[in-house]
Amino acid sequence: MSHDASCLCGKIQFNVEIDAADVNFHACHCTMCQKQNGGPYMGVKLSRTPDIVSESLAWYDSSDYAQRGFCKECGSTLFWRMKENVDAMCIVSVGVLKNTKNLTLTSHIFVDGKPDYYEIADGLPCLTAEQVMAKYS
Ligand SMILES: [Zn+2]
Ligand SMILES: [Zn+2]
Repeated sequence: MSHDASCLCGKIQFNVEIDAADVNFHACHCTMCQKQNGGPYMGVKLSRTPDIVSESLAWYDSSDYAQRGFCKECGSTLFWRMKENVDAMCIVSVGVLKNTKNLTLTSHIFVDGKPDYYEIADGLPCLTAEQVMAKYS
């Protein structure tokens, strides 16, 4: 399904494709997401990295295997993707999508990175870093 999206200032307008199999997404509580977003990060997997032509889009190498895309003007967090093969795994921030009706939060990941000042109380599955690595590698 096709989704329209934009950053907070509107300089980056784009469209993404989300497969029916990927409408269930997770919230990431790792320390890097906390730093970048000021809290947990919610993102949905895309079919591929969208082609965006915008001088406002910047990519930050947050680890040796991943990079995070953001707007240079307003700071909106837009993407998380694999560095080597950008289409292998590209995630878009749920909050920048216009229509989120068919999307559902179904789990929490990297919960061992979660700070103590909030609790996960929605009853959804919680995976530690080790469990995430075992599941996706
Ligand atoms: Zn912006
Ligand atoms: Zn994270």
